[in-house]
Amino acid sequence: MAVNDTKVNLLGLDRPALEGFFAALGEKPFRARQLMQWVYQRSVTEFDAMTDLGKTLRATLKDCAEIRLPGVMNEQLSSDGTRKWLLCMDAANSIETVFIPDQERGTLCISSQVGCAMDCSFCATGKQGFNRNLSAAEIVAQVWVANQRLGAIHGVERAITNIVFMGMGEPLANYKHVLTALHVFLDDFGYGLSKRRVTVSTSGLVPNLNKLATECDVALAVSLHAPNDALRDVLVPINRVHPIAELMAACREYVRNQDRSHVHITFEYVMLAGVNDSLDHAQELAELVRDIPCKINLIPFNAFPGTEYQRSSDEVIERFGEHLWNKGIVTITRRTRGDDIDAACGQLAGKVQDRIRREQRMREQLEVRV
Ligand code: SAH
Ligand code: SF4
Repeated sequence: MAVNDTKVNLLGLDRPALEGFFAALGEKPFRARQLMQWVYQRSVTEFDAMTDLGKTLRATLKDCAEIRLPGVMNEQLSSDGTRKWLLCMDAANSIETVFIPDQERGTLCISSQVGCAMDCSFCATGKQGFNRNLSAAEIVAQVWVANQRLGAIHGVERAITNIVFMGMGEPLANYKHVLTALHVFLDDFGYGLSKRRVTVSTSGLVPNLNKLATECDVALAVSLHAPNDALRDVLVPINRVHPIAELMAACREYVRNQDRSHVHITFEYVMLAGVNDSLDHAQELAELVRDIPCKINLIPFNAFPGTEYQRSSDEVIERFGEHLWNKGIVTITRRTRGDDIDAACGQLAGKVQDRIRREQRMREQLEVRV
């Protein structure tokens, strides 16, 4: 009998890979669909309970495969209904996943890496350093755990209507695993979400952004945060490698590639007092995005211990937003959610063992074009 760590974790296989897995066992492709329905639609992980698979196949599966889930180390509930889970990935690392309920939707904010190597100067995750990419199974497992817990708490089957890669990590630096997870989220036998309900948020890894455009054109959020290279070089260091002009060209291409109408990009812009929040910045921003179908999300900065930045005042944010509206750009100020449990944008920390210096890691990641 196989030992635990030689078993395949089926959460890390999208449908084509799962069909391949069953083919290797001499089984028909429809087995993949049956298994996915059990796991993702009925939250069943014990092969013994998957009654339509047949006794012999169930025994084989028990021998060579598993549905391995992370341990839930902590679950916190904010006064505004936001829920945060601390999930144990291995002995040294844990990550955070956040559920944000709203009137008509429930958004799950998931992580793609343990920490982040991009080192944005205003981000708690970045400041913490980087340890490793999450596997596809570890990314998918976040949705499984949240879906199962929410079902148990609320008795609702489909509390999660949207998924955003806005937790810990830079999703496009973990391209291959994120792509597999996206397939599971979109698959009718997986979570069955439409492309516009799944958002990848990136700080601007242009080569992989271009790949995503052709391979899985989900909704895209781009963390812009500054309207010129001089400032963005400081706030979002990846800009020194892929400057704004290159990023904007990739955004135009992303929209052009879509066969759906009304596609737009969301530009995220964190509001940092006295840094990027003047009306001149707003004007420069408006000119920058003028020819890209987009909306702008203004994110009030969320402070964390040790940061030198401060949040812009409500008046400044409002004035900034008004300027953009007057230029014809749909601009929304994101309500801060879950900050009483440190679940707001940029506050996610988990537990990261920063094994290698961040700068070195970032260079490595840029060299690896998956
Ligand atoms: N790495 C990806 C996705 C995770 S960060 C990215 O950067 O896009 C999700 C969003 O939170 C990004 O727009 C990020 O810039 C923003 N963010 C990071 N730190 C923040 C902070 N302290 N306050 C407000 N937003 C922050
Ligand atoms: Fe990484 Fe995004 Fe934080 Fe930048 S903002 S350090 S890319 S998680």
